[in-house]
Amino acid sequence: MKIIIDEHSGCCNGVARAIKRAEEALAQNNTLNCLGPIVHNEAEIERLGKMGLRTVSIDDFPNLKGEKVLIRAHGEPPHTYHKAGIYSIELIDCTCPVVLALQKKIKSAYEQISVMGGKVVIFGKKGHAEVNGLVGQTHSNAIVVDSLAQFKELLEKGTLTTDMPVELFSQTTKDPQEYEELGNYMTSIFPKGMVNIHNTICKQVTSRHHTLVDFAKKCDIIFFVCGKESSNGNVLYELCRSINPRSYRVEFARQIDRSLIKENDTVGICGAASTTRWQLESASEYILAEK
Ligand code: SF4
Repeated sequence: MKIIIDEHSGCCNGVARAIKRAEEALAQNNTLNCLGPIVHNEAEIERLGKMGLRTVSIDDFPNLKGEKVLIRAHGEPPHTYHKAGIYSIELIDCTCPVVLALQKKIKSAYEQISVMGGKVVIFGKKGHAEVNGLVGQTHSNAIVVDSLAQFKELLEKGTLTTDMPVELFSQTTKDPQEYEELGNYMTSIFPKGMVNIHNTICKQVTSRHHTLVDFAKKCDIIFFVCGKESSNGNVLYELCRSINPRSYRVEFARQIDRSLIKENDTVGICGAASTTRWQLESASEYILAEK
């Protein structure tokens, strides 16, 4: 048996930066509040929790007067900043610069298109933290669709019509191929010039798609480490499985079923944009501990 850890797996820059800033703040103060789980990754939340990181919600703000609250890489809608101001909360804003730039783009597109009776459409997961932050830039008027099928349903219901101009954006971690399919479909049914498609999938995510395909081909069996709620994890795991049917998803190293590994297997370990390097290494150690 041989184990290989995907060299391209591990936290993306945005998540790594938020974790680093949380660690720095905790080193000074022993406790820190984070608005929502810092990453969609229970193992990392557990580790930071032991250092003093507490997950809070916006409803807790009245009880956090004067305290520090970290905003994670996903970003937040304008309402959160307003509410933090009301309760004199000091924000440690770790919104990923890529997400921040996307928020600004959406805000500006919304301001222009809404006066023309048009719509901002976001290809993303409804209720996802990043998507909430994006929708907040449009006073909650953006339309969120998670799939081409959902988009077609909205057309059937008349929520969207092909005579309205549309600015189309994607959540940063969506599947590039699905986004392209949606964009192509829209271009095919809307009159020319009515749809403006913005390429807003994070480049780190797009490049992971290519490298993961190569990695999955090299392995006989794969353990994909990521949190259940990770949107990027869902997309990448499905991609892995489509290349290598012996792909298994785990949240913690201890969930790895070692009996699935055959003697001469090349075992691949990889993960999502929210999976840390230490988790990948501990998955490898867990496998080796028994074999
Ligand atoms: S996936 Fe890209 S946009 Fe999203 S947090 Fe990571 S670096 Fe930022």
